[in-house]
Amino acid sequence: MSQAAKQDANEPTRTGLSRGALKRAVLDNLFYVMGRFPEVASASDRYSAVAYTVRDRLLERWIRTARYYKERNSRTVCYLSAEYLPGPHLLNNMLNLGITRTAGEVARELGADLAEIRETEEEPGLGNGGLGRLAACYMDSLATLQIPAIGYGIRYEFGIFDQVIVDGWQVEKGDTWLRNGNPWEIPRPKLTFPVGFGGRAEHYTDKHGVIRRRWLPDLMVNGVAYDTPIMGYGVTNGNLLRLWKSEAPESFNFQAFNVGDYYGAVHAKIEAETLSKVLYPNDEPVAGKELRLKQQYFFVSCSLQDMIRLQLRNAGTLDRFHEKYAIQLNDTHPALAIVELMRLLVDEHFMSWEQAWEITRNSCHFTNHTLLPEALETWPVALFERLLPRHLEILYEINRRFLDEVRVHFLNDEERVARMSLIDESDGRKVRMAHLAAVGSRAINGVAELHSSLLKTTIMRDFHDLWPERFHNVTNGVTPRRFMVVSNPPLADLISDTCGHADWIRDMRRLRELEAHADDAGLQGRWREVKTAAKGALSDWLGQHTGFRPDPETLFDVQAKRIHEYKRQHLNLLHIVWLYEHLKQNPNAELTPRTFIFGGKAAPGYFMAKLIIRLIHAIGEVINSDPQVNGFLRVAFMPDFNVKNGQRLYPAADLSEQISLAGKEASGTGNMKFAMNGTLTIGTLDGANIELRDEVGHDNFYLFGMTAEEVQQRQAEGYRPWELYHGDAQLRSAVDLIASGLFSHGDTELFRPITENLIHSDPFMVLADFHAYQERQQEVDRAYRDPNHWTRMSILNTARIGKFSSDRAIAEYAKKIWQIEPAPVELAD
Ligand SMILES: *Cc1c(COP(=O)(O)O)cnc(C)c1O
Repeated sequence: MSQAAKQDANEPTRTGLSRGALKRAVLDNLFYVMGRFPEVASASDRYSAVAYTVRDRLLERWIRTARYYKERNSRTVCYLSAEYLPGPHLLNNMLNLGITRTAGEVARELGADLAEIRETEEEPGLGNGGLGRLAACYMDSLATLQIPAIGYGIRYEFGIFDQVIVDGWQVEKGDTWLRNGNPWEIPRPKLTFPVGFGGRAEHYTDKHGVIRRRWLPDLMVNGVAYDTPIMGYGVTNGNLLRLWKSEAPESFNFQAFNVGDYYGAVHAKIEAETLSKVLYPNDEPVAGKELRLKQQYFFVSCSLQDMIRLQLRNAGTLDRFHEKYAIQLNDTHPALAIVELMRLLVDEHFMSWEQAWEITRNSCHFTNHTLLPEALETWPVALFERLLPRHLEILYEINRRFLDEVRVHFLNDEERVARMSLIDESDGRKVRMAHLAAVGSRAINGVAELHSSLLKTTIMRDFHDLWPERFHNVTNGVTPRRFMVVSNPPLADLISDTCGHADWIRDMRRLRELEAHADDAGLQGRWREVKTAAKGALSDWLGQHTGFRPDPETLFDVQAKRIHEYKRQHLNLLHIVWLYEHLKQNPNAELTPRTFIFGGKAAPGYFMAKLIIRLIHAIGEVINSDPQVNGFLRVAFMPDFNVKNGQRLYPAADLSEQISLAGKEASGTGNMKFAMNGTLTIGTLDGANIELRDEVGHDNFYLFGMTAEEVQQRQAEGYRPWELYHGDAQLRSAVDLIASGLFSHGDTELFRPITENLIHSDPFMVLADFHAYQERQQEVDRAYRDPNHWTRMSILNTARIGKFSSDRAIAEYAKKIWQIEPAPVELAD
């Protein structure tokens, strides 16, 4: 036996990272966990065996981390988010453990293929889009930066629906991500907390003769913890994603069985278990969705009870709760944490109101994610009162004290008091969740420079007048581990090769070292090869899944994100229709061959978004089958855009469409993922696009459209899209072509809601930006024909994208908002 082989044989099967140990472990797991001989193992068995092998190796680090944090009683970030969109775990965990290559070799030795194994993995779709993905990127960076953190959320049994396309329409399919089990989670049945609903509040006198208030709920549900380890990259630290599943209490309605109300008892059980059943799609009116409010309270209550348990165990008192924990509220979905923490401290731990408020307000921090007024969460007071009667009392008391403060600050300004109140009295009484979050937090942040500054002048203006010092900006970021190294290994290797190190993966500013080589013909050639190979892989995938395989020689122009009118997929479509007409009329027009690729889900109840998907397919059908144009123009739709499919798109795109109406996209993170992979952006001055353009250089970004200020001005003057429609022949003929039924087999009704909306209301000002967009696209066209110039711009985009690493964002939160230090864990040998 060789020296190396001997070493391998001595390595422990469950923790060893050598080839021998990994191979033994996979076979062991296949036999002892999955109960299979290799000959009869299915793809899913093989995946599970490999996943358990990786998980074993995480656990040692993870448990060591937990013990270390506990011994030090480390300050801990508690990230509260109703959504997480982590994507497939396997390759990311292999990367973080540094075993990707060895694992690939082991798979081959066992007659399997790592690429095939990874395809088998179902991703946890526990989020809608950007917001959930951001939470997942932040969990990755928290661990990598060695910051003690727990991500709290809901373990939805059904995540975001799977999208299939039938006759050009989106059809939603239930997401059964747990059907083959989930090797990454560890159920913690002992970690169970009761959560109440309904009932009433009452006075009572405690044994010291003090009159107190307590809540007598009439329904109890249990929250059971399910833990997923989140490893840092190249470090021993492993944090915790703790998701709550709802269950009926064991003792539930035992009485009901005895008195014969069998169906009533079963009903109560089903109701309890329904709570964590399904994720709500966003972009739909949520008002009155009782289950959604219950979900929010459920996960917030479990999480706070868990924090209190840990702090009581460590410190014996809750007096320093706020020193132990920095709670980050990811949007208003967890804002009930403020009221629930008050209730737990005052009613259950008998703290004075003043002290409890001091602790609560020093524990919580609030991230706002939207400026769209229709997306601001409110709950009818009547619903709130029925589900959470004691919380409504506490909320009223918070409000009473808060409004007194406002009155002292701004004398004789009752209008302002009404505007700022936690209760909107204007149109039925409603609880304003953003106001609650602002009042109960010591820091409020937006997610890009523009967004944070607009917050101060629009929806949060009054709060900024009162507490300017509470307002911050932390521009979003994304993790380079998943979105570069895992999804684009050839690019990562090329970068490491060129820079002479792989340190950029932890320190993205070092990508700047690429700049010196941007004109290097050798690098440019290899850079193009990497891009072309990624385009080929995407083409193959699309060919298999949609029957249309785009030509990798064409420019890949990609818009992949949720379908929403403010994101303006229909602006992109109008331009495609214009190009189509232009080509039909000028068959010899000089045009760069392009494939327009769309991806994205529409909320099931969002009619216009679903119609836009239908229109993408309709236009594609006509264009792709027209030999007069299809040498230059093609349209593809990638079904089921999720993290896994996104990882196929970002590396393969030449051009990234970030074309929302200025002032509407809070940040965007898709823009960052594309640019990291050497994709150029065509975009508006919206969200983080502005900062992205400043970083990569104005010459390396295709800017068009009105500024947020111009948008406001235009709206104030009275926006009249029909004048634009009548005044611009090209625009009119593009709209008319859609209305004519050319793309809908003569049906002039099908797309009328889109065309009529554009002409008569156009709330997202598609027509106003059309001309500038079209001109900028012509510039893209010309630039792409000069490969050296284009490649140089592509390299510079990657080289200068370092700011948009989620590591930078988390470092900013740690310093400016949480005041928390890293706690590096050593792996003792
Ligand atoms: C990054 C990401 C998003 C966000 O995309 P935007 O372009 O910022 O809207 C949405 N969904 C998934 C699956 C993502 O990975």
